[in-house]
Amino acid sequence: MLRIEAIPALEDNYIWAIVGDGHCAVVDPGETAPILSWMQRHELQLSAILVTHHHGDHVDGIAGLLDHYPVPVYGPAQETIAHVSQLVDEGDRVAIPAIEAEFDVMSVPGHTRGHIAYHGHGLLFCGDTLFACGCGRLFEGTPAQMHDSLQRLAALPDETQVYCTHEYTLGNIAFALSIEPGNPRLAERDHQAREQRSLGLPTLPSSIALERATNPFLRCHEPAIRQAAERYAQGSLNTPQEVFAVVREMKNHYRQ
Ligand code: ZN
Ligand code: FE
Repeated sequence: MLRIEAIPALEDNYIWAIVGDGHCAVVDPGETAPILSWMQRHELQLSAILVTHHHGDHVDGIAGLLDHYPVPVYGPAQETIAHVSQLVDEGDRVAIPAIEAEFDVMSVPGHTRGHIAYHGHGLLFCGDTLFACGCGRLFEGTPAQMHDSLQRLAALPDETQVYCTHEYTLGNIAFALSIEPGNPRLAERDHQAREQRSLGLPTLPSSIALERATNPFLRCHEPAIRQAAERYAQGSLNTPQEVFAVVREMKNHYRQ
């Protein structure tokens, strides 16, 4: 049975540890030190490193981990990342025998050109693509690419547990409420997330069902979201992709 643990790092990153019997794998190690001390405390050995995209806050801890544990490092085939030893892409499967885990690789471009996600055991590690009630900025991809990537993630089973890399949930919910104030699930989610943060707890994982019900970036087909985007764009928007592009733009300029 796999257990997932959060190792907080940097400002607001979570490095996710996938824990099996005596061993673990880590996802997006932006720092080395917090992982090493966490593994020591829990008496775990490192078996693999998984990386979703090339940004420093997701990869800067790799070299330091390899100094202690010469393990395979999985990363996106379409990005250049130092120390990645196994290039993986859509359709590939990552097997980590020491923790009896297997993950399917999904190509989810948008935040970066080669961004990938790992899916298996009812778990999704999606880096900076799908956030709790939000999505990553479009640094390299187009709105249409990101929209398609998010729709593919949204099509995963309802109960899939969503592990993204950043604790951005409260800000994301505030934005979501500003464009869909009449969504009762959002108000409920706001209440719950505030309570978790006030106790110092992560708001993650989320679930695909919760994201579909509350995340404006997955809801561009909803009339309320489209109307809010049309008011902002001062014109009619005809496809969910067009709505998505405007909602992403609204978020870029949103100030609480
Ligand atoms: Zn990033
Ligand atoms: Fe990031």
